[in-house]
Amino acid sequence: MAKVIVVGGVAGGATAASQLRRLNQEIDITIYEKDRDISFANCGLPYHIGGEVDARRKLIAATPESFNEKAVSVFTYHEVVGVNTDKQFVTVKNITTGEQFNDTYDYLILSPGGRARIVHGLENAEGAFSLHNIEDMDKIMAFIDENKVQDAVIVGTGFIGMEMAENLRLRDIGVTVVHKNENIYGHVEADIVAVLHQEMEKNGIDLKLNAEVDYYQDGFLFLTNNEKIKAPLIIQGIGLNPNTEFLKDSGVAMTAHGLIPVNQYGQTNVENVYTLGDVMETKYLHVPEQPANIKLAWPAHRMAYVIANHIHGAYDVTFEGLLGTNIMRFFDYEVGSIGIPQAAVRDYEHFVIDHQQNFKAGYMEGASKIKIKIYVANDGTILRASIVSKHGVDKRLDTLAAHIRMGGKAQDLVNIEVAYSPPFSSPKSFLNMVGYKAIEEMKKRGLM
Ligand SMILES: Cc1cc2nc3c(=O)[nH]c(=O)nc-3n(C[C@H](O)[C@H](O)[C@H](O)COP(=O)(O)OP(=O)(O)OC[C@H]3O[C@@H](n4cnc5c(N)ncnc54)[C@H](O)[C@@H]3O)c2cc1C
Repeated sequence: MAKVIVVGGVAGGATAASQLRRLNQEIDITIYEKDRDISFANCGLPYHIGGEVDARRKLIAATPESFNEKAVSVFTYHEVVGVNTDKQFVTVKNITTGEQFNDTYDYLILSPGGRARIVHGLENAEGAFSLHNIEDMDKIMAFIDENKVQDAVIVGTGFIGMEMAENLRLRDIGVTVVHKNENIYGHVEADIVAVLHQEMEKNGIDLKLNAEVDYYQDGFLFLTNNEKIKAPLIIQGIGLNPNTEFLKDSGVAMTAHGLIPVNQYGQTNVENVYTLGDVMETKYLHVPEQPANIKLAWPAHRMAYVIANHIHGAYDVTFEGLLGTNIMRFFDYEVGSIGIPQAAVRDYEHFVIDHQQNFKAGYMEGASKIKIKIYVANDGTILRASIVSKHGVDKRLDTLAAHIRMGGKAQDLVNIEVAYSPPFSSPKSFLNMVGYKAIEEMKKRGLM
């Protein structure tokens, strides 16, 4: 019987194991997870802290016991510390006992994700946390309750920082956000997210721009701009480092940043070693020469399905590449983007369209603006787009994702027949209007 070892038991690893078991009742599957929990909804963690997800148990999708019932062996507090791809075994450390042992595999699936970066100066700060798993969430919630926390500082304005700022305010905790430059939520353009500054102000968040943590002392943060702020609770959200050090000397190829390139089946350079999730490097679907590492749930889930099928022998199921579609709610606003990063757009001859109109018929109660910035290559390829509004960002981004996925260009947006009635959009809907503007611009530039 073929034997599969899965490293990491959360989004990518647990999903790959479940999919494989669904396809194949015979294959032997073992998951090694170095931490306490498996198969939980990372994405829901901030919303339990804020109270929108009322019960903690709702965040847990599966347990070691529920996997055991499906004949999948799960070992928590077991860290894979080495891989020998020649002899096909992993070295595992039982974190509880310190004991090490080897376990052989026919197929190895790597989904070790990343770990939160620690802000320089906060290494030993009491009350400084990052939020990556349920253990972190439990610690943060216990700390808030035990210390009756009234004030918090968020360092960094990625999606975890922003979501935590919102959710701590929902608990009536005073929030100060510290950001190193002026461009908060920096993976989306400054003019698109400008409205989030006002949203912070409206919701009582104190935003410190062009400031970094210098040092921490006795419950206070000292910033590089010479400010001193009360910091009984600090949440750090400055990105992730890939957990791939254990693959050093394994023969699995990695980039200089510790990411693992994969092919359309999720295979690494070693045929029977697969990778998915936050550590995989794949390509953009619409601009395939651009490498893509998108640390979001959809890529992990899709690749889990592809890998499970490939191990099961279904070679027609492939991973086609990513668009990087993402969205976040911040109080009354929704903001998201799709496509290659802002910096990568410069590699292509392109033009930019800025467009705004009401997200629903302007005469309807509650109508307000929806705004897009879209980058179009000379042949009409939609390289990237960012959208902000109080409503309807998700459906526009999802429509763009489907459109680009099916090979649609900017000039084809005029042909999308939308579902229209006044509470939802306009007869000449938002994306149609972007298409008309793209055609106008392409004609002006002699591109069509
Ligand atoms: C707070 C939060 C909110 C998020 N919100 C969203 C969202 O709204 N939308 C979205 O699309 N994505 C969101 N994400 C991102 C999404 O959760 C990740 O992209 C996804 O979890 C990645 O899956 P993964 O399997 O690569 O890594 P993980 O889910 O992080 O799992 C990796 C697991 O591997 C274990 N591991 C690591 N090394 C070893 C080893 N050597 N041996 C054994 N085990 C090991 C780790 O302990 C970890 O449990 C969020 C993430 C967080 C933390």
